[in-house]
Amino acid sequence: MKDGFGREIDYLRVSLTDRCNLRCVYCMPMHGLTFVPNPELLSADELEKVVRAAVEVGFKKIRLTGGEPTLRQDVVDIVERFHRIDGIEQVVMTTNGYRLPYIADDLARAGLTRVNIHVDSLNKETISKIMRLGSFDKAWAGIEAAEKAGLTPIKLNAVITRGYNDDAAVEMSRLTLTKPWQIRFIELMPFAGPTEIQLEHYVSSDEVKSRIERELGPLFDVNGGELEGEARVYRLAGAEGTVGFISPVSNSYCDGCNRLRLTADGRVRLCLLSDKEIDFRATLRHGGTHQDLVELFKRAIRTKPVGHQLKNGVFAENRTMSQIGG
Ligand code: SAM
Ligand code: SF4
Repeated sequence: MKDGFGREIDYLRVSLTDRCNLRCVYCMPMHGLTFVPNPELLSADELEKVVRAAVEVGFKKIRLTGGEPTLRQDVVDIVERFHRIDGIEQVVMTTNGYRLPYIADDLARAGLTRVNIHVDSLNKETISKIMRLGSFDKAWAGIEAAEKAGLTPIKLNAVITRGYNDDAAVEMSRLTLTKPWQIRFIELMPFAGPTEIQLEHYVSSDEVKSRIERELGPLFDVNGGELEGEARVYRLAGAEGTVGFISPVSNSYCDGCNRLRLTADGRVRLCLLSDKEIDFRATLRHGGTHQDLVELFKRAIRTKPVGHQLKNGVFAENRTMSQIGG
């Protein structure tokens, strides 16, 4: 179904939990965040009902996210339920990868197409600084497990954050010379939630790209300037893999936005960077029917904002990234 600005909305990002085993500086505070109590999270049955309604209005792709989606004990069951729904073409996941060595094979068997793994550096000390409870060895084991299970092509996500991992982009891009991976650098986004990091730590994609090119040579445009999803994609000469830039702040992709987000507590969020949400859980838990959920999706699509308002100083106020589902 198209929204009021002619965009076909067919991609739903589903947050399974707001909890995480890490505490990345730009995403979650180290202490003091309260989590949604388990009974308030959507159950696997409720999630399936929401996705069945989403399919009816034209959604085709589901991304599981969080918080850390693999912390849900029933994550494999959820993948399998979504994969079986007629009309769903892809179920993918964004994860920090730490639990993949234990569950990657099961996820692949259940129908997961592939994973994006988040790691902000290849350097152990830098990872401890920026991802705080993070460990390079665990991230790497997760990447290897994903490859072995066929959850490919592998995409790695890093948020370049001034004063934390400024130099990570060069080493990570060098990996693409020998690995068929896509390494994507995401611009830091400001959230008014209780994270310690805000706009002064932002580094633009242009700055990251220049730094990579200074050290490793030119990056050649792969898609003639067209976006691949939300990323602009390039390749170093002779490289096996590619380098992507996701630039929501410096070069917003709102014009082509095709997504809605379902938070772990059952709200559909109309734009990552706006607080507008529609409460699906209330409908689910007060006897709402399949058709009621379909109507809520239609309302969500009809009222999706044209784009974010960061340039006018309007930030999302009510949730951190981990509470939205990045
Ligand atoms: N835990 C999983 C992970 O880290 O991939 C899934 C959830 S996490 C919120 C999804 C993505 O959001 C990660 O790639 C993370 O780097 C990104 N992210 C979190 N906070 C951000 C922020 N303030 N600005 C930009 N990206 C952010
Ligand atoms: Fe956890 Fe992902 Fe947020 Fe890091 S970015 S704290 S891994 S949810």
